[in-house]
Amino acid sequence: MALIVQKYGGTSVGSPDRIRAVAERVKRFRDQNHDVVVVVSAMSGETNRLIELGKSVNPEVPAREMDVLISTGEQVTIALLAMALERIGCPARSYTGHQVHILTDNVYGKARILQIDEKRMRTDLEKGRVVVVAGFQGVDEEGNITTLGRGGSDTTGVALAAALKADECQIYTDVDGVYTTDPRVVPQARRLDKITFEEMLEMASLGSKVLQIRSVEFAGKYKVPLRVLSSFEEGPGTLITYEENDMEAPLISGIAFSRDEAKITVRGVPDKPGIAHRLLGDIAAASINVDMIVQNVGADGTTDFTFTVPRGDYRKAMETVKKTAGQLAAREVTGDDKIVKISVVGVGMRSHAGIASQMFKVLADEGINIQMISTSEIKISVVVEEKYLELAVRALHSAFALDKPPSVSR
Ligand code: ADP
Ligand code: ASP
Ligand code: MG
Repeated sequence: MALIVQKYGGTSVGSPDRIRAVAERVKRFRDQNHDVVVVVSAMSGETNRLIELGKSVNPEVPAREMDVLISTGEQVTIALLAMALERIGCPARSYTGHQVHILTDNVYGKARILQIDEKRMRTDLEKGRVVVVAGFQGVDEEGNITTLGRGGSDTTGVALAAALKADECQIYTDVDGVYTTDPRVVPQARRLDKITFEEMLEMASLGSKVLQIRSVEFAGKYKVPLRVLSSFEEGPGTLITYEENDMEAPLISGIAFSRDEAKITVRGVPDKPGIAHRLLGDIAAASINVDMIVQNVGADGTTDFTFTVPRGDYRKAMETVKKTAGQLAAREVTGDDKIVKISVVGVGMRSHAGIASQMFKVLADEGINIQMISTSEIKISVVVEEKYLELAVRALHSAFALDKPPSVSR
Protein backbone atom coordinates (compact mmCIF):
# COMPACT_ATOMS: atom_id res chain seq x y z
CA MET A 1 0.00 0.00 0.00
CA ALA A 2 1.42 3.33 -1.08
CA LEU A 3 0.54 6.99 -0.84
CA ILE A 4 0.21 8.45 -4.29
CA VAL A 5 -0.37 12.03 -5.37
CA GLN A 6 -1.93 12.29 -8.82
CA LYS A 7 -2.26 15.55 -10.74
CA TYR A 8 -4.62 15.83 -13.69
CA GLY A 9 -4.22 18.72 -16.14
CA GLY A 10 -6.85 20.78 -17.95
CA THR A 11 -7.45 18.48 -20.92
CA SER A 12 -7.69 15.47 -18.62
CA VAL A 13 -10.62 17.09 -16.77
CA GLY A 14 -11.91 18.99 -19.82
CA SER A 15 -15.44 17.48 -19.91
CA PRO A 16 -17.84 15.54 -17.65
CA ASP A 17 -16.86 12.32 -19.46
CA ARG A 18 -13.20 12.92 -18.83
CA ILE A 19 -13.83 13.74 -15.18
CA ARG A 20 -15.66 10.42 -14.87
CA ALA A 21 -12.72 8.68 -16.52
CA VAL A 22 -10.35 10.29 -14.00
CA ALA A 23 -12.62 9.08 -11.17
CA GLU A 24 -12.44 5.53 -12.57
CA ARG A 25 -8.66 5.68 -12.67
CA VAL A 26 -8.45 6.99 -9.12
CA LYS A 27 -10.78 4.20 -8.01
CA ARG A 28 -8.53 1.57 -9.58
CA PHE A 29 -5.71 2.80 -7.33
CA ARG A 30 -8.00 2.85 -4.30
CA ASP A 31 -9.11 -0.70 -5.11
CA GLN A 32 -5.46 -1.71 -4.79
CA ASN A 33 -5.51 -0.15 -1.32
CA HIS A 34 -3.35 2.84 -2.17
CA ASP A 35 -4.03 6.16 -0.49
CA VAL A 36 -4.68 8.76 -3.15
CA VAL A 37 -4.52 12.55 -3.08
CA VAL A 38 -5.63 14.13 -6.34
CA VAL A 39 -4.76 17.61 -7.58
CA VAL A 40 -6.75 18.99 -10.49
CA SER A 41 -6.41 21.92 -12.86
CA ALA A 42 -9.31 23.92 -14.22
CA MET A 43 -11.11 22.48 -17.26
CA SER A 44 -9.07 23.23 -20.38
CA GLY A 45 -9.53 26.76 -21.66
CA GLU A 46 -11.18 27.90 -18.44
CA THR A 47 -8.25 29.85 -16.98
CA ASN A 48 -7.81 31.70 -20.29
CA ARG A 49 -11.54 32.45 -20.38
CA LEU A 50 -11.44 33.87 -16.87
CA ILE A 51 -8.41 36.05 -17.67
CA GLU A 52 -10.19 37.51 -20.70
CA LEU A 53 -13.34 38.01 -18.66
CA GLY A 54 -11.37 39.99 -16.08
CA LYS A 55 -9.70 42.11 -18.75
CA SER A 56 -13.05 42.86 -20.36
CA VAL A 57 -14.21 44.49 -17.15
CA ASN A 58 -10.92 46.24 -16.38
CA PRO A 59 -8.00 46.08 -18.81
CA GLU A 60 -5.65 46.89 -15.92
CA VAL A 61 -7.02 44.12 -13.68
CA PRO A 62 -5.76 44.54 -10.10
CA ALA A 63 -3.49 41.54 -9.45
CA ARG A 64 -5.24 40.57 -6.23
CA GLU A 65 -8.65 40.43 -7.88
CA MET A 66 -7.28 38.56 -10.88
CA ASP A 67 -6.17 35.78 -8.52
CA VAL A 68 -9.57 35.68 -6.83
CA LEU A 69 -11.09 35.32 -10.29
CA ILE A 70 -8.78 32.78 -11.94
CA SER A 71 -8.57 30.50 -8.91
CA THR A 72 -12.27 29.71 -9.35
CA GLY A 73 -11.65 27.37 -12.30
CA GLU A 74 -10.05 24.79 -10.04
CA GLN A 75 -12.85 25.03 -7.47
CA VAL A 76 -15.25 23.78 -10.12
CA THR A 77 -13.17 20.71 -11.02
CA ILE A 78 -12.48 19.60 -7.44
CA ALA A 79 -16.20 19.55 -6.72
CA LEU A 80 -17.02 17.72 -9.96
CA LEU A 81 -14.33 15.10 -9.41
CA ALA A 82 -15.38 14.49 -5.80
CA MET A 83 -18.98 14.05 -7.03
CA ALA A 84 -17.87 11.63 -9.73
CA LEU A 85 -15.90 9.62 -7.15
CA GLU A 86 -18.82 9.45 -4.72
CA ARG A 87 -21.05 8.28 -7.56
CA ILE A 88 -18.88 5.20 -8.13
CA GLY A 89 -18.68 4.38 -4.45
CA CYS A 90 -15.37 6.01 -3.70
CA PRO A 91 -15.65 8.36 -0.70
CA ALA A 92 -13.97 11.69 -1.47
CA ARG A 93 -13.58 15.20 -0.12
CA SER A 94 -12.71 18.27 -2.15
CA TYR A 95 -10.64 21.14 -0.78
CA THR A 96 -9.52 24.55 -1.99
CA GLY A 97 -5.92 25.62 -1.39
CA HIS A 98 -7.00 27.63 1.62
CA GLN A 99 -8.74 24.67 3.25
CA VAL A 100 -5.60 22.53 3.23
CA HIS A 101 -3.45 25.50 4.24
CA ILE A 102 -1.30 25.93 1.17
CA LEU A 103 0.53 28.97 2.46
CA THR A 104 2.28 31.11 -0.16
CA ASP A 105 4.07 34.44 -0.33
CA ASN A 106 1.97 37.38 -1.47
CA VAL A 107 3.21 37.78 -5.05
CA TYR A 108 -0.11 37.61 -6.88
CA GLY A 109 -0.03 35.69 -10.14
CA LYS A 110 3.25 33.93 -9.39
CA ALA A 111 3.19 33.11 -5.71
CA ARG A 112 5.59 30.59 -4.19
CA ILE A 113 4.46 27.86 -1.83
CA LEU A 114 6.01 28.31 1.62
CA GLN A 115 4.29 25.68 3.70
CA ILE A 116 1.56 23.06 3.63
CA ASP A 117 -0.23 21.67 6.63
CA GLU A 118 -1.01 18.07 5.79
CA LYS A 119 -3.06 17.22 8.92
CA ARG A 120 -6.48 17.57 7.40
CA MET A 121 -5.54 15.48 4.38
CA ARG A 122 -4.11 12.74 6.62
CA THR A 123 -7.29 12.59 8.66
CA ASP A 124 -9.31 12.04 5.49
CA LEU A 125 -6.91 9.45 4.15
CA GLU A 126 -7.13 7.56 7.44
CA LYS A 127 -10.90 7.50 7.01
CA GLY A 128 -10.47 5.91 3.60
CA ARG A 129 -11.34 9.01 1.61
CA VAL A 130 -9.76 10.29 -1.56
CA VAL A 131 -8.57 13.86 -1.02
CA VAL A 132 -9.15 16.15 -4.00
CA VAL A 133 -7.24 19.43 -3.87
CA ALA A 134 -7.48 22.48 -6.13
CA GLY A 135 -4.25 23.05 -8.01
CA PHE A 136 -2.68 26.41 -8.86
CA GLN A 137 -3.91 28.23 -5.74
CA GLY A 138 -2.88 29.09 -2.24
CA VAL A 139 -3.37 31.72 0.36
CA ASP A 140 -0.97 34.26 1.84
CA GLU A 141 -0.43 34.99 5.52
CA GLU A 142 -3.29 37.47 5.54
CA GLY A 143 -5.71 35.05 3.94
CA ASN A 144 -5.61 36.58 0.45
CA ILE A 145 -6.05 34.10 -2.39
CA THR A 146 -2.93 33.72 -4.55
CA THR A 147 -2.14 31.75 -7.71
CA LEU A 148 1.11 30.04 -8.65
CA GLY A 149 1.61 31.09 -12.27
CA ARG A 150 0.40 29.36 -15.44
CA GLY A 151 0.78 25.61 -15.24
CA GLY A 152 0.98 25.92 -11.45
CA SER A 153 -1.11 22.84 -10.66
CA ASP A 154 2.00 20.77 -11.38
CA THR A 155 3.66 22.59 -8.51
CA THR A 156 0.71 22.01 -6.20
CA GLY A 157 0.95 18.29 -7.00
CA VAL A 158 4.66 18.04 -6.32
CA ALA A 159 4.46 20.24 -3.21
CA LEU A 160 1.69 18.06 -1.74
CA ALA A 161 3.71 14.95 -2.54
CA ALA A 162 6.70 16.48 -0.73
CA ALA A 163 4.62 17.54 2.29
CA LEU A 164 2.96 14.11 2.55
CA LYS A 165 6.20 12.26 1.75
CA ALA A 166 4.26 10.42 -0.94
CA ASP A 167 5.68 7.32 -2.57
CA GLU A 168 5.14 8.82 -6.01
CA CYS A 169 3.82 11.96 -7.66
CA GLN A 170 2.12 11.18 -10.95
CA ILE A 171 1.48 14.01 -13.39
CA TYR A 172 -1.28 12.91 -15.79
CA THR A 173 -1.50 14.95 -18.97
CA ASP A 174 -2.44 14.74 -22.65
CA VAL A 175 0.86 13.19 -23.75
CA ASP A 176 2.18 9.87 -22.46
CA GLY A 177 5.41 11.25 -21.02
CA VAL A 178 8.26 13.65 -21.60
CA TYR A 179 9.37 13.62 -25.23
CA THR A 180 12.63 14.48 -26.93
CA THR A 181 10.84 17.68 -27.96
CA ASP A 182 7.25 18.92 -28.14
CA PRO A 183 5.48 16.22 -30.20
CA ARG A 184 3.14 18.90 -31.54
CA VAL A 185 6.06 20.44 -33.42
CA VAL A 186 8.02 17.29 -34.28
CA PRO A 187 5.75 14.29 -34.87
CA GLN A 188 8.82 11.99 -34.82
CA ALA A 189 9.63 13.02 -31.25
CA ARG A 190 10.18 10.05 -28.97
CA ARG A 191 9.00 9.41 -25.43
CA LEU A 192 11.85 9.11 -22.95
CA ASP A 193 11.61 6.28 -20.40
CA LYS A 194 13.52 8.46 -17.99
CA ILE A 195 15.14 11.86 -17.86
CA THR A 196 17.51 13.21 -15.25
CA PHE A 197 16.23 15.86 -12.90
CA GLU A 198 18.85 18.31 -14.18
CA GLU A 199 17.78 17.84 -17.77
CA MET A 200 14.11 18.17 -16.87
CA LEU A 201 14.90 21.39 -15.01
CA GLU A 202 16.64 22.82 -18.09
CA MET A 203 13.90 21.64 -20.45
CA ALA A 204 11.20 23.22 -18.27
CA SER A 205 13.08 26.47 -17.79
CA LEU A 206 13.83 26.69 -21.52
CA GLY A 207 10.19 26.46 -22.51
CA SER A 208 8.90 22.84 -22.42
CA LYS A 209 5.62 23.39 -20.68
CA VAL A 210 4.97 19.71 -19.97
CA LEU A 211 6.02 20.49 -16.37
CA GLN A 212 6.01 23.91 -14.73
CA ILE A 213 9.59 24.86 -13.82
CA ARG A 214 8.76 25.37 -10.17
CA SER A 215 7.34 21.88 -9.88
CA VAL A 216 10.68 20.50 -11.07
CA GLU A 217 12.60 22.72 -8.64
CA PHE A 218 10.37 21.52 -5.83
CA ALA A 219 10.79 17.89 -6.85
CA GLY A 220 14.58 18.30 -6.81
CA LYS A 221 14.63 19.98 -3.43
CA TYR A 222 12.64 17.22 -1.76
CA LYS A 223 13.65 14.36 -4.09
CA VAL A 224 10.03 13.64 -4.91
CA PRO A 225 9.67 10.53 -7.09
CA LEU A 226 8.04 12.10 -10.15
CA ARG A 227 6.48 10.54 -13.22
CA VAL A 228 4.69 12.07 -16.23
CA LEU A 229 1.96 9.89 -17.75
CA SER A 230 -1.04 10.00 -20.05
CA SER A 231 -4.50 10.23 -18.55
CA PHE A 232 -5.95 8.69 -21.73
CA GLU A 233 -3.96 5.48 -22.03
CA GLU A 234 -2.01 3.10 -19.83
CA GLY A 235 1.76 3.16 -20.00
CA PRO A 236 4.96 3.62 -18.00
CA GLY A 237 5.32 7.34 -18.80
CA THR A 238 8.58 9.11 -18.06
CA LEU A 239 10.37 8.89 -14.75
CA ILE A 240 12.39 11.86 -13.53
CA THR A 241 15.53 10.38 -11.99
CA TYR A 242 18.01 11.79 -9.51
CA GLU A 243 20.95 9.63 -10.59
CA GLU A 244 24.19 11.43 -11.14
CA ASN A 245 26.91 10.46 -13.60
CA ASP A 246 24.62 8.30 -15.64
CA MET A 247 27.19 6.69 -17.91
CA GLU A 248 24.55 5.78 -20.41
CA ALA A 249 23.32 9.32 -20.85
CA PRO A 250 22.91 10.23 -24.50
CA LEU A 251 24.74 13.34 -25.69
CA ILE A 252 21.52 15.21 -26.25
CA SER A 253 18.33 14.22 -24.45
CA GLY A 254 15.97 16.83 -25.77
CA ILE A 255 15.26 20.09 -27.54
CA ALA A 256 13.30 22.84 -25.86
CA PHE A 257 12.05 26.06 -27.38
CA SER A 258 10.31 29.20 -26.27
CA ARG A 259 8.24 31.64 -28.28
CA ASP A 260 7.96 33.89 -25.26
CA GLU A 261 10.99 35.98 -26.25
CA ALA A 262 11.81 39.51 -27.38
CA LYS A 263 15.14 41.32 -27.65
CA ILE A 264 16.25 44.87 -27.13
CA THR A 265 19.48 46.42 -28.43
CA VAL A 266 21.03 49.64 -27.14
CA ARG A 267 23.73 51.02 -29.45
CA GLY A 268 26.45 53.50 -28.70
CA VAL A 269 26.42 53.55 -24.90
CA PRO A 270 29.56 54.87 -23.16
CA ASP A 271 31.96 51.95 -22.56
CA LYS A 272 32.62 52.54 -18.88
CA PRO A 273 31.92 50.89 -15.51
CA GLY A 274 28.36 50.91 -14.25
CA ILE A 275 26.56 50.99 -17.61
CA ALA A 276 25.25 47.40 -17.51
CA HIS A 277 24.14 48.03 -13.97
CA ARG A 278 22.23 51.18 -15.01
CA LEU A 279 20.51 49.59 -18.00
CA LEU A 280 19.61 46.27 -16.43
CA GLY A 281 19.00 47.72 -12.96
CA ASP A 282 16.16 49.85 -14.29
CA ILE A 283 14.68 46.79 -16.04
CA ALA A 284 14.88 44.73 -12.86
CA ALA A 285 13.26 47.56 -10.91
CA ALA A 286 10.34 47.28 -13.33
CA SER A 287 10.07 43.56 -12.30
CA ILE A 288 11.11 42.33 -15.75
CA ASN A 289 13.33 39.24 -15.98
CA VAL A 290 16.28 39.55 -18.32
CA ASP A 291 17.50 36.28 -19.79
CA MET A 292 20.35 36.36 -22.34
CA ILE A 293 22.74 39.30 -22.39
CA VAL A 294 25.37 40.15 -24.99
CA GLN A 295 27.75 43.09 -24.85
CA ASN A 296 29.92 43.81 -27.86
CA VAL A 297 33.59 44.68 -27.68
CA GLY A 298 33.74 48.43 -27.32
CA ALA A 299 35.04 50.73 -30.05
CA ASP A 300 35.49 54.52 -30.02
CA GLY A 301 34.69 54.56 -26.32
CA THR A 302 31.19 53.19 -26.89
CA THR A 303 29.65 49.72 -26.90
CA ASP A 304 26.41 47.91 -27.88
CA PHE A 305 24.22 45.91 -25.58
CA THR A 306 21.57 43.31 -26.46
CA PHE A 307 19.37 41.37 -24.08
CA THR A 308 16.19 39.31 -24.12
CA VAL A 309 13.01 39.69 -22.05
CA PRO A 310 9.69 37.79 -21.96
CA ARG A 311 7.55 38.86 -24.93
CA GLY A 312 4.73 40.02 -22.68
CA ASP A 313 7.09 42.52 -21.05
CA TYR A 314 8.50 43.84 -24.34
CA ARG A 315 6.63 47.15 -24.46
CA LYS A 316 7.25 47.97 -20.83
CA ALA A 317 10.94 47.02 -21.20
CA MET A 318 11.31 49.22 -24.31
CA GLU A 319 9.83 52.21 -22.50
CA THR A 320 12.13 51.72 -19.53
CA VAL A 321 15.24 51.21 -21.67
CA LYS A 322 14.51 54.24 -23.84
CA LYS A 323 14.34 56.39 -20.75
CA THR A 324 17.62 55.07 -19.34
CA ALA A 325 19.31 55.18 -22.77
CA GLY A 326 18.33 58.84 -23.08
CA GLN A 327 19.97 59.63 -19.76
CA LEU A 328 23.12 57.77 -20.86
CA ALA A 329 23.18 59.58 -24.23
CA ALA A 330 23.08 56.25 -26.11
CA ARG A 331 22.91 56.43 -29.92
CA GLU A 332 19.79 54.30 -30.50
CA VAL A 333 17.48 51.68 -29.05
CA THR A 334 15.98 48.99 -31.31
CA GLY A 335 13.95 45.89 -30.56
CA ASP A 336 12.44 42.77 -32.08
CA ASP A 337 9.65 40.64 -30.65
CA LYS A 338 9.58 38.11 -33.50
CA ILE A 339 12.33 35.94 -32.13
CA VAL A 340 12.43 32.52 -30.46
CA LYS A 341 14.92 30.64 -28.34
CA ILE A 342 15.86 27.06 -29.20
CA SER A 343 17.96 24.95 -26.85
CA VAL A 344 19.55 21.52 -26.99
CA VAL A 345 19.83 19.86 -23.57
CA GLY A 346 21.81 16.86 -22.38
CA VAL A 347 24.00 15.86 -19.44
CA GLY A 348 26.15 13.93 -21.92
CA MET A 349 27.42 17.30 -23.20
CA ARG A 350 29.59 17.61 -20.13
CA SER A 351 32.01 15.05 -21.41
CA HIS A 352 31.84 15.85 -25.12
CA ALA A 353 33.22 18.80 -27.05
CA GLY A 354 31.87 19.94 -30.37
CA ILE A 355 28.12 19.85 -29.76
CA ALA A 356 27.86 23.62 -30.18
CA SER A 357 29.63 23.63 -33.53
CA GLN A 358 27.50 20.70 -34.68
CA MET A 359 24.38 22.64 -33.71
CA PHE A 360 25.55 25.79 -35.51
CA LYS A 361 26.36 23.82 -38.66
CA VAL A 362 22.87 22.29 -38.77
CA LEU A 363 21.35 25.78 -38.56
CA ALA A 364 23.78 27.19 -41.13
CA ASP A 365 22.96 24.38 -43.57
CA GLU A 366 19.30 25.39 -43.31
CA GLY A 367 20.20 29.04 -43.92
CA ILE A 368 19.11 30.07 -40.43
CA ASN A 369 20.94 33.03 -38.94
CA ILE A 370 21.85 32.82 -35.26
CA GLN A 371 21.27 36.13 -33.46
CA MET A 372 22.42 35.26 -29.94
CA ILE A 373 24.04 32.28 -28.24
CA SER A 374 24.26 31.21 -24.63
CA THR A 375 25.62 28.03 -23.11
CA SER A 376 25.79 26.24 -19.79
CA GLU A 377 27.28 22.90 -18.84
CA ILE A 378 24.34 20.90 -20.15
CA LYS A 379 22.63 23.16 -22.69
CA ILE A 380 23.23 25.38 -25.70
CA SER A 381 20.63 28.01 -26.57
CA VAL A 382 20.33 30.14 -29.68
CA VAL A 383 18.01 32.97 -30.61
CA VAL A 384 16.68 32.91 -34.18
CA GLU A 385 13.93 34.56 -36.19
CA GLU A 386 10.50 33.22 -35.20
CA LYS A 387 9.63 32.01 -38.70
CA TYR A 388 12.44 29.43 -38.52
CA LEU A 389 11.25 27.77 -35.30
CA GLU A 390 9.75 24.58 -36.73
CA LEU A 391 12.44 24.18 -39.37
CA ALA A 392 15.24 24.61 -36.83
CA VAL A 393 13.76 22.25 -34.24
CA ARG A 394 13.04 19.53 -36.80
CA ALA A 395 16.49 19.82 -38.38
CA LEU A 396 18.22 19.62 -34.99
CA HIS A 397 16.01 16.75 -33.87
CA SER A 398 17.00 14.66 -36.84
CA ALA A 399 20.68 15.77 -36.90
CA PHE A 400 21.11 14.64 -33.29
CA ALA A 401 19.24 11.40 -34.12
CA LEU A 402 16.68 12.01 -31.40
CA ASP A 403 14.03 10.17 -33.41
CA LYS A 404 16.04 6.96 -33.06
CA PRO A 405 16.37 4.88 -29.88
CA PRO A 406 19.46 6.01 -27.91
CA SER A 407 21.55 2.92 -28.63
CA VAL A 408 21.50 3.79 -32.34
CA SER A 409 22.35 7.43 -31.79
CA ARG A 410 25.50 6.79 -29.82
P1 ADP B 1 -1.71 19.93 -18.70
O1 ADP B 1 -2.93 20.74 -19.04
O2 ADP B 1 -1.99 18.48 -18.51
O3 ADP B 1 -0.91 20.52 -17.59
P2 ADP B 1 0.11 21.09 -20.63
O4 ADP B 1 -0.52 21.57 -21.90
O5 ADP B 1 0.48 22.10 -19.60
O6 ADP B 1 -0.82 19.96 -20.03
O7 ADP B 1 1.43 20.24 -20.97
C1 ADP B 1 1.37 19.17 -21.89
C2 ADP B 1 1.85 19.65 -23.26
O8 ADP B 1 3.24 19.98 -23.18
C3 ADP B 1 1.80 18.61 -24.35
O9 ADP B 1 0.53 18.55 -24.95
C4 ADP B 1 2.89 19.05 -25.31
O10 ADP B 1 2.38 19.74 -26.43
C5 ADP B 1 3.72 20.05 -24.50
N1 ADP B 1 5.15 19.72 -24.50
C6 ADP B 1 6.15 20.63 -24.71
N2 ADP B 1 7.34 20.04 -24.68
C7 ADP B 1 7.13 18.72 -24.42
C8 ADP B 1 7.99 17.59 -24.26
N3 ADP B 1 9.31 17.71 -24.35
N4 ADP B 1 7.41 16.40 -24.00
C9 ADP B 1 6.09 16.28 -23.89
N5 ADP B 1 5.22 17.30 -24.04
C10 ADP B 1 5.73 18.53 -24.30
N1 ASP C 1 -5.38 26.27 -14.61
C1 ASP C 1 -4.07 26.86 -14.48
C2 ASP C 1 -3.51 27.26 -15.84
O1 ASP C 1 -4.15 27.08 -16.84
C3 ASP C 1 -3.10 25.96 -13.75
C4 ASP C 1 -2.77 24.67 -14.46
O2 ASP C 1 -3.48 24.25 -15.39
O3 ASP C 1 -1.76 24.04 -14.06
O4 ASP C 1 -2.42 27.77 -15.91
MG1 MG D 1 0.44 22.14 -17.53
